[in-house]
Amino acid sequence: MLFDTIIAPATAPGVSAIAVIRLSGPEAISLCNDVFKGKNLLEVDANTIHFGTINDGDQLIDEVLVSIFKSPHSFTKEDSIEISTHGSMYIVEKVIQLLIRNGARSAEPGEFTRRAFLNGQFDLAQAEAVADLIHSDSEAAHQAAIHQMRGGFSEEIKALRDQLIHFASLVELELDFGEEDVEFADRDDLKLLVNNLLAVIIRLANSFDMGNVIKEGIPIAIVGKPNAGKSTLLNALLNEEKAIVTEIAGTTRDFIEDELIIEGVKFRFIDTAGLRDTEDKVESIGIARSREKMAEASLVLFIYDTREDSPAGIEEELDKLKKLDIPYLILGNKIDLVDDLSSLPSRDDTMYISAQDKDKVDALRIRLIELVHLDGYKKGDTVVTNIRHYESLIRSRESLEKVLSGLGQNITGDFLAMDIRQSLHHLGLIVGEVTTDDLLESIFSRFCIGK
Ligand code: GDP
Repeated sequence: MLFDTIIAPATAPGVSAIAVIRLSGPEAISLCNDVFKGKNLLEVDANTIHFGTINDGDQLIDEVLVSIFKSPHSFTKEDSIEISTHGSMYIVEKVIQLLIRNGARSAEPGEFTRRAFLNGQFDLAQAEAVADLIHSDSEAAHQAAIHQMRGGFSEEIKALRDQLIHFASLVELELDFGEEDVEFADRDDLKLLVNNLLAVIIRLANSFDMGNVIKEGIPIAIVGKPNAGKSTLLNALLNEEKAIVTEIAGTTRDFIEDELIIEGVKFRFIDTAGLRDTEDKVESIGIARSREKMAEASLVLFIYDTREDSPAGIEEELDKLKKLDIPYLILGNKIDLVDDLSSLPSRDDTMYISAQDKDKVDALRIRLIELVHLDGYKKGDTVVTNIRHYESLIRSRESLEKVLSGLGQNITGDFLAMDIRQSLHHLGLIVGEVTTDDLLESIFSRFCIGK
């Protein structure tokens, strides 16, 4: 496929030690050579690096290193160049402008990866994993992305497709024989196969619940009266993990959202006002919004001061919590102030902790992972993290269910073949065996420029 030559910064904007500019396309090497003083880049070997200067006429722009990649041994499978400059935005802009003036074109978002996909470097699911990998900010998200990028997920989909293609061709062969009433595709074998495929598809689709939270972070609502120890608890969880705390831009001041990485999984803690009834207008608005926020949470942590409040005293609020039908955990805090720990009622849904002394905070951490059913993520299983893949799996499942019910009703081969083809189509969309321009546009436009 013939493309033009594109250019974009490959490193993030800002001041840094070095910045990398990438060019890809048939003219990449010659365009760079025209502005480079040093070796003649048209004559150097692939996979070599050369020191020299970039010049705009008489003006020296920077001392640089140029890396040479030759088709097909590059990310895009095209001739590619990486120019490492000093990390100044001014220099990067100057070099890019110069090369655009000489005939390169500014790359669209995701265009390098799109070319890599179109040139057969990897399939669509793997291309999407490249974006996930760049954005991964926890061990779990990184694991899922790298597994997908290395083709783990694609292999499962391809295995499913291969089996279906085999059967589709047998069924279609029957159609060629028309009237003769032959059956090349044994119906019992087909039923068995479809059931096996359905089991795999359902497992993959079900993993999306986990995949989605791995990528986005698990929303946890923390509920408790002022002074119950909510911030102390967040700090206790945070310190030992040495993790990042970010205040999510765009959240209102009613809700402080902290992101913590616990056991390699990203949690988003949302501090809410609780559910108690109130006459106070402002507070009741806060509580209505708490309820909305809580409804989005995967888990509610209800924290109270063990010394001052008893679970009985907060029963009313607990009742409301239970009605939300979200998993919850009750934390009796400040046990360092309780003289007789054996006096505390033992309940399955309650843990007693001291956020201040970090007592039982480790146990809480493990309990959190269990409660959100993420204890399985480290097993290296394929986890679907992309809603597009999830939707295609569901469509594919629907078609296979039609195949099954058709088999039950002895429907004719042509209808069977149609449903099998439908299922194949949806699996094909995942890995990009079937694509449309719109699909590619919507996927790659979400990448950043230079990727
Ligand atoms: P929040 O309003 O729920 O965020 O509560 P804070 O985390 O600000 O805690 C309120 C007060 O309780 C602070 O003075 C904390 O130091 C104290 N506190 C929190 N957790 C504990 C605990 O486990 N033991 C003791 N003794 N004090 C605590």
